[in-house]
Amino acid sequence: MRFDIITIFPHIFDSYFGESILKRAQESHKIDIVVHNLRDFATDKHKTTDDIPYGGGAGMVMKVEPIHRAVSMIKQQKMNDSQQGGRAESLNTVLSDKRTTNVRTILFSAKGKLFTQRDAERLAKYGRLIMICGRYEGVDERVADHIVDEEFSIGEYVLTGGEIPAMVVVDSVSRLLPGVLGNEESLKEESFGSERSEGDLSTHTGEIQKEYPHYTRPEEFNGWKVPEVLLSGNHKEIERWRNEKKLSE
Ligand code: SAM
Repeated sequence: MRFDIITIFPHIFDSYFGESILKRAQESHKIDIVVHNLRDFATDKHKTTDDIPYGGGAGMVMKVEPIHRAVSMIKQQKMNDSQQGGRAESLNTVLSDKRTTNVRTILFSAKGKLFTQRDAERLAKYGRLIMICGRYEGVDERVADHIVDEEFSIGEYVLTGGEIPAMVVVDSVSRLLPGVLGNEESLKEESFGSERSEGDLSTHTGEIQKEYPHYTRPEEFNGWKVPEVLLSGNHKEIERWRNEKKLSE
């Protein structure tokens, strides 16, 4: 899986993607994360990526041309990578080319569809995700209308930019990919997941479901005790308790 992130603040990602599971996943080539500076796709001498809004109003709006150029060139890069000596094609041809169907292009906006674990599971089946991070007042609507496949919000609040949403998508999708987590068993019973363990009393209908509570040593801290059933060694009872807890969430 390759993630292409288009942003005007590329260094925001250095720390998060340079640590822990996502760092190891890149080192072992399970995932590739390529961060593109949108300014590199601006053609004027000031590298302009935003402009004043038509109709007036506060703030600046991110321009459509550099984003169109970035998405088209990133898609073309892939085609050229996989077909050595690939012919040069117009940017519009690349955007609508059927050979890019294993690619999903995403725009982040507060008004987009709420991103859920179902979306992470679905997106994990693509070979490549191209993500556009907005800033300022947002992005020229023609990007949503003509360039991207999906427009996601990560929650009902307004952030300063789409960079944190891009990290959320990279993180939640990557951990579903084979070999990224050390222990894939841990995916089986996770909150919101579609995988269910054997003997699970719940029926999976696609609704939100939370994982059961976890405890570790000590058995008692500050007078707060671990539920006795978890210390019993009775695996049937433990499973029943966990399933009840999931249903009562
Ligand atoms: N004027 C916009 C509004 O009222 O919805 C807010 C723009 S926000 C300051 C700048 C950028 O941050 C957006 O273009 C988007 O890329 C990103 N953003 C803000 N909140 C978001 C959210 N909840 N989910 C996804 N992206 C968000």
